[in-house]
Amino acid sequence: MENSHGWVSITCPECSAAQNVFTCKIADVSEEPELRQKLFKGELNIFDCVQCGAKLHYDEYLLYTDREKGLVIHVFSQDYGPKINDICDRLVKEFRLVPADELFSNFILFGYANLAKIVALIERPENIKNMRAQYAGEGDRDLYRRLFILSQEWLNAGREKIGQQRADELFNEAYAFHRNKEYDAAVSRYREALAEKPNHYSSLFNLGLVYFNTLEDNTLSLECFRACREIRPNDNDLVFCLGQIHLKLENIDDALGCFLNSVVLQPHSSLAWFNAGLCLGLKGRTNETFDCLRISLDLAATDEDRTLIEKTIERFRTNRQPEIAE
Ligand SMILES: [Zn+2]
Repeated sequence: MENSHGWVSITCPECSAAQNVFTCKIADVSEEPELRQKLFKGELNIFDCVQCGAKLHYDEYLLYTDREKGLVIHVFSQDYGPKINDICDRLVKEFRLVPADELFSNFILFGYANLAKIVALIERPENIKNMRAQYAGEGDRDLYRRLFILSQEWLNAGREKIGQQRADELFNEAYAFHRNKEYDAAVSRYREALAEKPNHYSSLFNLGLVYFNTLEDNTLSLECFRACREIRPNDNDLVFCLGQIHLKLENIDDALGCFLNSVVLQPHSSLAWFNAGLCLGLKGRTNETFDCLRISLDLAATDEDRTLIEKTIERFRTNRQPEIAE
C-alpha cells in the first residue's frame, strides 16, 4: 500500500527536542498483521525521545483496515472530537468517488486506546454485522449509512450491547435447532447464549421448554422457569408453563397458584381455566372446580377441547357422587 508509513517531525513534550519519527499512517493489518499486535501492546506510533527517552505519542489520523473482516476505521486524535460533523461531511464526499459495491462501512473513532478496544470487540465478524445493523438508518443521506461514529458512550456500552447481540444470535441458532427437533444442539446453543448473557429471557424460557417437553427433565426445566419468573413475574406463557411443570411433578398447591395467576393474566384462555379447575378438583374443592371447568367449556375453541372438558367434568362429578350420597 502506498505511503502507509511516513516520516513526521515531532517535538518532545518533556525536553522540547525536535525529531523525525517513522509513523504508520495506514495500518492495513491484512498486509501487516504485526501492526495489530503493536496496537494491542500499546506500541503503535509510540516512540522514545532520542534526547531524554520520554514516550512520544503520535496520535494524528490513522486509517486502520482489515480487508479480511471488511473493516475500515478512521482514527482521529482525541482533540478532533468536536469536529465530528466536518469529518463526516468530508468522508461522505469521498464516498461519492467510490463505486457503491466497493464501499465498505466506515467507522470513525478517536484515540488509539479506543481503537484497540474496538478492534478487540469486533474481531468476530458477526459483531461487525451487528454494529452495522445498530447504526443502520442513522443520518439523512444514504451514504451516511455507511458511516458509523463510535462515540465514547458506545465504547462504554459496547460490551453489554455486544453481549446482548451475541446472545440474541446464539438464541436464533438455538431456536433453529429447536424447531428442527435437534434438541441436544438446541440445548447447547441456549446454554451458550446464557453464558453470554445470564438473564437472557428467551433462552432461559426455551431451554425450560426443551427440558420439559422433550428431554423430560423436570428439575432443570423448573430451574429455568423459576429464573424466568425472577425476570418477568407476570408473563402469561411463563406462569402457565410453570403451572404445568408443578402439575407434572404433582406439586398441586404450586400448580394451583400458577393457574389461578394464569386465569387472572389470561382470562380468555380456556386451557388456563381448565388447568385451574383440574388442580382445584385434585384438592377436593368441588364447587370451584365445576365453576372453572364451566368457564373453560364456554371459552373452548374446538369440539375436541369441549369433549375433553365435558369428560373431565363428568369424571369429577362421578368421583364425587359416592361422597355426596353419604
Ligand atoms: Zn525528550
